[in-house]
Amino acid sequence: MEPDRPILLWLRRDLRLQDNPALAAAVATGRSVIPVFIRPGKHEIGGASTWWRDQSLAALARDLKAKGSRLILRTGPAEKVLPALAAETAATALAFNQTLEPGQIATDQAVMRVLGAHRVEIIERRGNRLHDPWLVKTKAGGPFKVFTPFWRTLSADYRPPARHNAPKAIHVPKRWPKSEYLADWQVTAKWASGFGEEWTPGEAGAAARLNRLLRTAKDYPAERNRPDHEGTSRLSPHLAWGEISVHEIWRRLDKKLGKDALPFLRQLGWRDFNSHLLYHFPKLPTEPWSAKFARFPFQRDAKGLRAWQRGLTGYPIVDAGMRQLWTTGWMHNRVRMIVASFLVKDQLIDWRKGEAWFRDTLVDADLAQNAANWQWVAGSGADAAPYFRVFNPIGQSRRFDPDGAYIRRWVPELATLDGRAIHAPWEADVTVKGYPAPILDHAEARERALAAYEKIK
Ligand SMILES: Cc1cc2nc3c(=O)[nH]c(=O)nc-3n(C[C@H](O)[C@H](O)[C@H](O)COP(=O)(O)OP(=O)(O)OC[C@H]3O[C@@H](n4cnc5c(N)ncnc54)[C@H](O)[C@@H]3O)c2cc1C
Repeated sequence: MEPDRPILLWLRRDLRLQDNPALAAAVATGRSVIPVFIRPGKHEIGGASTWWRDQSLAALARDLKAKGSRLILRTGPAEKVLPALAAETAATALAFNQTLEPGQIATDQAVMRVLGAHRVEIIERRGNRLHDPWLVKTKAGGPFKVFTPFWRTLSADYRPPARHNAPKAIHVPKRWPKSEYLADWQVTAKWASGFGEEWTPGEAGAAARLNRLLRTAKDYPAERNRPDHEGTSRLSPHLAWGEISVHEIWRRLDKKLGKDALPFLRQLGWRDFNSHLLYHFPKLPTEPWSAKFARFPFQRDAKGLRAWQRGLTGYPIVDAGMRQLWTTGWMHNRVRMIVASFLVKDQLIDWRKGEAWFRDTLVDADLAQNAANWQWVAGSGADAAPYFRVFNPIGQSRRFDPDGAYIRRWVPELATLDGRAIHAPWEADVTVKGYPAPILDHAEARERALAAYEKIK
């Protein structure tokens, strides 16, 4: 009888069966496949991400079971867990999709070194992105630092690759290795316990969001900035965990809408651009892209930071956003920009404090997207908003939540206010019981921010 020569399929942020290049490559060999997910430690990702991951793994385990397969769970450094698992199962190959975060690149290299030394074949495929950052280059041969030319270059060359359909069956090994129990991993923080009302983590949940998007995407340009409407796809946490292929989104939208799909596809371009930036500038999450911002006079303000985190700044649109984040693990993009500008410019608090809070509380938390967007708002990033563009929280609120429906939903203390008073109750001389007065005056804060900027110009 032929000896079993299984392939380890190392799953990470690619928790799907459909259009998964590493899975397809492993299945195509005709050998048995052992899907494995490794968590490096107990607390290496934020609380909201942990909630999502564990729900998503449960969904993936069910989907694998339906194909007769299993999901093996292990804890520890991948460069130790994978060689041990290979030895235990007599696996002779490892298949995985690349990731590009700096820490993960180092891990991948360590894994390949150790397994290579044991003559384990490596099957590596591109991760869930449109481009390879080392292939898309400026005319001078360097990395892009500005989005528009990056997008022009990428979208001109990009053609979605042929789809890898989910395998009909996955060969199983003669003996399964032991797995940890997902129930032992699942310790949902109390604040995350309501997320399930909003989200369905897993491939089926992602497919449902895509189907909804296909019906609504023609209105995306008009609707995408309205937090009071459900005008965006809410695909971000599914993309963060690779429950849907970015190429599949492209193919389906392009087929249905042709050129009209471009405003949405451009947003996927931003996602790739931010990964491009992180790949070429690994310090993006911790250091300002623009060096002069290292001298920026940020202030220590623990009380102000707490008010912002809790949605108690007295600025209704800011508080609505921060409470939507706390309750659902997600916030509308327009409101993310408003709350980030408020923290960094009105409160003069270091953007890294906001980045850390988002990283812990967002279900779509992603190192590249989070850091690049925070630096964009702070004015210190590549192709960032100019520093002097200080969002006016009241003007933004009136413009993008005109009737105050979004505020009313997330700040129930203000629910009885009319559409005029709700954006700035103090201007209409309305005091609301239980809702704080503004913690600062925006006009004064704006002047203070511009003066601080003058110091580093
Ligand atoms: C301060 C700040 C922090 C952010 N942190 C994150 C983060 O940690 N993870 C994350 O995925 N997004 C982050 N974003 C980007 C953006 O807010 C979210 O991707 C978007 O709100 C997700 O909702 P959606 O899926 O409905 O978006 P849609 O409008 O439906 O867009 C479709 C997809 O395009 C991508 N996309 C859209 N806008 C952006 C953007 N500005 N930058 C990069 N990709 C984008 C996302 O993958 C998104 O799912 C951040 C934005 C700001 C201003």
